[in-house]
Amino acid sequence: MIDQNQVLTALEKILDPETGRPLGQTQQLKQIDCHSDRLSVAIGLTSHSAPLHNDVKQQATERLQQAFPQVPQIQVEIVPHQRVVPQLGQVGLRCRSVIAVGSGKGGVGKSTVATSLAYSLKKMGCRVGLMDADVYGPSVPQLTGTAGQLRQEDGKIQPLMQDGMPIVSIGFMVPADQAIIWRGPMLHSAVTQFLRDTAWGELDYLIIDMPPGTGDIALTLSQLLPLSGAVVVCTPQKVALLDAVKAIAMFRKVKIPIVGIVENMSGFLCPDNHKRYDIFGSGGARQLAEDAEIPFLGDIPITLSMRERGDEGTTQENLEDPTVAPFIDKIAYQVARRIADQVRSAPATPQLPVLG
Ligand code: ADP
Repeated sequence: MIDQNQVLTALEKILDPETGRPLGQTQQLKQIDCHSDRLSVAIGLTSHSAPLHNDVKQQATERLQQAFPQVPQIQVEIVPHQRVVPQLGQVGLRCRSVIAVGSGKGGVGKSTVATSLAYSLKKMGCRVGLMDADVYGPSVPQLTGTAGQLRQEDGKIQPLMQDGMPIVSIGFMVPADQAIIWRGPMLHSAVTQFLRDTAWGELDYLIIDMPPGTGDIALTLSQLLPLSGAVVVCTPQKVALLDAVKAIAMFRKVKIPIVGIVENMSGFLCPDNHKRYDIFGSGGARQLAEDAEIPFLGDIPITLSMRERGDEGTTQENLEDPTVAPFIDKIAYQVARRIADQVRSAPATPQLPVLG
């Protein structure tokens, strides 16, 4: 007969994707039921790890099958595990992973990728916020179909809610047809307010849509809080790749780690004949990622429906479209995977701060 300790021994060294610590140390092996012919285990994982729940389930199942080949029925279940999210940096934002989405230039689909990434992580079960810091061309309100003005309540900016996701954008502060000349200190204070004075609640991921090219906002962000990393979006043609190289250099300069590169508009999927035409070429970003020794996170084809949804303010529907959703979901999974890998190679301090 198997006893609980043998099961614990088989599983305790599996690492929690969020903290990088062994599950045996973090009270995440919740329930173990042993019988002569079956074994069932419940593993507690947080919503931050939602994209990786299946990986942990598979890993645990394999370890149990190896350790107890005589047991015909092995069942691993993932159950919710709560953990207080610590404050980040000096701004008091309670978010586990802040991800900047940047590009070397405008028009490559950076905002579309940032928005789709946020919706995909949310669909997988994570608590996600979306912050549009593209001061020169805030397009998140348009892409998500969100309109309105930011209000203050109890001294905090209230994000606008869209499909259950809190969104803050410079576009909610400035009328769409007006131009503002942003000076350095104004940029700094707008970004600081968005992070420090906004009622984001507790988040697993905050996705920040960065302005293309320049490093001002990246520098401000890196001074305010530790970012998990940057996702660089580019299109496959050579001129765009050259700009992406500059974006990578910029993030490196301000010491924001690069999570990886996304190739957007990678091949046109023709709705008439379902053929793929490589209008801008394809594979260039993968090569760039290899040359720069950066992970390649995936590609997204260019489709008529994605462009239409952008214009209609229904980008969230991309996540239900079988021609593009798998591409977006793969990128979201890769982002979560890479962040978990980072945490594992530099584990958090043993005791997470407990907040009052
Ligand atoms: P950026 O933030 O880089 O300036 P946007 O995300 O605003 O770019 O996208 C620019 C335009 O391209 C928008 O009209 C958007 O709907 C469209 N677009 C972005 N990605 C795709 C795609 N994969 N397929 C079709 N249209 C896309």
